[in-house]
Amino acid sequence: MLNFYGLTIDDLKAFLSDIGKEQFRAQQLMKWVYEKRITDLEQMTNLSKETRALFADKIQFDLPKMVQHLVSVDGTQKFLFEMYDKNTVEAVIIPAEDRLTLCISSEVGCNMACKFCFTGKQKLKRRLDAYEIVGQFVEIEDLLKKSDQKITNIVFMGMGEPLDNVEAVFKTVDILCHDFGRNFSRRKITISTSGIIPEMWRITKSRARLAVSLNGYDDQSRTEVMPINKKYPLSDLLEECRKYTRETKDRVTFEYVLLKGVTDQIEHARQLWKLVRSIPCKINIIPFNEHPGSDYHRPDDETVEKFHSELLHLGAQVLLRRTMGRDIFAACGQLTSEFNNKPKNMDISNSKIGGSPRVRNSCGGQLSLR
Ligand code: SAH
Ligand code: SF4
Repeated sequence: MLNFYGLTIDDLKAFLSDIGKEQFRAQQLMKWVYEKRITDLEQMTNLSKETRALFADKIQFDLPKMVQHLVSVDGTQKFLFEMYDKNTVEAVIIPAEDRLTLCISSEVGCNMACKFCFTGKQKLKRRLDAYEIVGQFVEIEDLLKKSDQKITNIVFMGMGEPLDNVEAVFKTVDILCHDFGRNFSRRKITISTSGIIPEMWRITKSRARLAVSLNGYDDQSRTEVMPINKKYPLSDLLEECRKYTRETKDRVTFEYVLLKGVTDQIEHARQLWKLVRSIPCKINIIPFNEHPGSDYHRPDDETVEKFHSELLHLGAQVLLRRTMGRDIFAACGQLTSEFNNKPKNMDISNSKIGGSPRVRNSCGGQLSLR
């Protein structure tokens, strides 16, 4: 059985030709599902009874189960999804003035083993299928609609390394961005990578935006926290980023996690700037978010501010990322599928489970954290 949410328009056309049906049915199906949000074949009135019966045998519309929805005091929302095989992933909604960004997961766990990352502590359990990534978007969008909220941006910055799961990730982009799909803008999708150089061209080709997790100011410091740097060292990575900016005329976003005493010194800011100053870029500084068993600490606010000011002073376009959703353990690098590993003392007393009254109990009342 095929899962509809994992099919691009071309996949659908191939399926239709296999069963001897007209190609334009692909467009009709996409419109029913993504525009009208109708998945009951019986309600698809422009399909004949015989066609509906044929589809019913071959296509299903199942989505991962949303088993938890938490709302932070700062408006961040976190969702836990359970897959058919009981594996779980998390996705996060981050509000900003004029944006509502969905941070989406591409894998259960991650093999890149970055030392500061909670997801990286879990080895890769499996890669998600396209329908499971599209599903995170569709289900959250359906839920938010009930309270008139609309997703404006998507970032692949949840669990997993998107370039370790290229087939599903780029299918997801194609499905969500197709005119007859969700018609989402490719320029509003950012794919963040730890730097798997041989796959980075795919981001350029997809016309989504590129973000690269730098997290080090030279090869030694980067290798220390991101083992992938041994295989794909900085000079090659930065050359690939330069290529992206040349071909797309877009800036690359560099993410840089501030680890206390490790990557947060003024001298490190200067070295970081030397590395990237010749590349059209934005730098996102992310103060480390602590998690159970982490070997690192978050620098104090003064150190963070000094680092930020130094980069500004040097002429960088830099954004200090405000930590969102800390009370519900939804900040960068805190996502996990090992839900029971959450700190016992995680303080959610001011947070709401299930969100505002309009969206409360949206997850079937299965929420339990305490
Ligand atoms: N695998 C991809 C995307 C997911 S990680 C990547 O590495 O780019 C998303 C971002 O969260 C990365 O920039 C990563 O450096 C950052 N991150 C991971 N753990 C973190 C933590 N504990 N605190 C702050 N940021 C973290
Ligand atoms: Fe994987 Fe990204 Fe975490 Fe590194 S930072 S372990 S690549 S999810």
